[in-house]
Amino acid sequence: MKVTFPHLGNLYIVLAAFFENLGIDVVIPPPVTKKTIELGSMYSPEFACFPLKINVGNFIEALEKGADTIVMAGGVGPCRFGYYSQVQKEILEDLGYKFDMIIFEPPRGNMKTIIYEINKLFKGKNIKKIVKSAKIAWLKACAIEKIESQALYYRAREKNKGTTTRIYKSALNLISESSNEETINANVEKINKYFKSIELDMNYSPLKIGLVGEIYTLLEPSSNMNIENILGDLGVEVIKSIKLTEWANTNIILDMLRIRRPDNCTFAAKPYLNYFVGGHGVESVGETVIYAQKGLDGVIHLAPFTCMPEIIAQSILYKVSKDKQIPVMTVMLDEHSAETGFRTRVEAFVDLLNQKKEAIS
Ligand code: SF4
Repeated sequence: MKVTFPHLGNLYIVLAAFFENLGIDVVIPPPVTKKTIELGSMYSPEFACFPLKINVGNFIEALEKGADTIVMAGGVGPCRFGYYSQVQKEILEDLGYKFDMIIFEPPRGNMKTIIYEINKLFKGKNIKKIVKSAKIAWLKACAIEKIESQALYYRAREKNKGTTTRIYKSALNLISESSNEETINANVEKINKYFKSIELDMNYSPLKIGLVGEIYTLLEPSSNMNIENILGDLGVEVIKSIKLTEWANTNIILDMLRIRRPDNCTFAAKPYLNYFVGGHGVESVGETVIYAQKGLDGVIHLAPFTCMPEIIAQSILYKVSKDKQIPVMTVMLDEHSAETGFRTRVEAFVDLLNQKKEAIS
């Protein structure tokens, strides 16, 4: 078995560690490039969600590199994510690829299907080894999230542009190469020192912008033109609404244990959106309310073109923006988005926020 999975930000480091520690061969999906997006768009229905197209392109590249098993998340609920993996499977089979697809759906009380899929993947594996591999993967996920947050803080304040990005890349390599708990912990210490060595402009008070939106568009830089770097280089501190470990904790662990409860974000969204609309529509609204309460300067809402939950959120965010006095800009992204136009819109939004900040102070 040679396993591959969707390329979603730095998740590949976590999943590769998990499978490799279990002795399962992994074909790491290649980084998403223009070619990946072209391939996916060529073979996917035109109206399909942008993340689906990127995944199709990425799976083609991984299958060409020898993968024979695709591990994919499934979904339930009102948006298209419910049949997303099935559509991908049929597209790839029509193209002549031979592979198995293992789909992990949220259990919602029915554990039978998920146990069947887990069995396919881990058949014959020692349970202790599975737990140990999961622990290493989880530690790596936590370390990576810390690195990502540090990069967002330091990039906005660094004196020498580019230093944070260089340290960020080396830090990810260090975590990727760490083979056990001790090395991960030692490397986290080392990485903290690297970040602390960055020369900062301590008199500078950066704009703070929250990023909300659909999970894939938020976490995969190739789908959002690397907006974190664009904003950081403009001296803006970015606060991201979705973190993978929190998401996995709520949507997988608490859901499986059936002890999931409404969180702060759901409560914050309630006066505007009081029911689940699929994807991250509720989170986009709730987090914008929370960001306004925390005094952030603005919010950028990222959404794949035609994404139903985010279109609902967009229509509500106008009112949230007015009520809570927080500027919000929605950007729809797909394979036709051009980097220059995107960058110009982001820069113009930042200029407006800077003018507003100056007028107030
Ligand atoms: S959340 Fe949006 S992009 Fe994701 S599957 Fe649903 S409709 Fe598509």
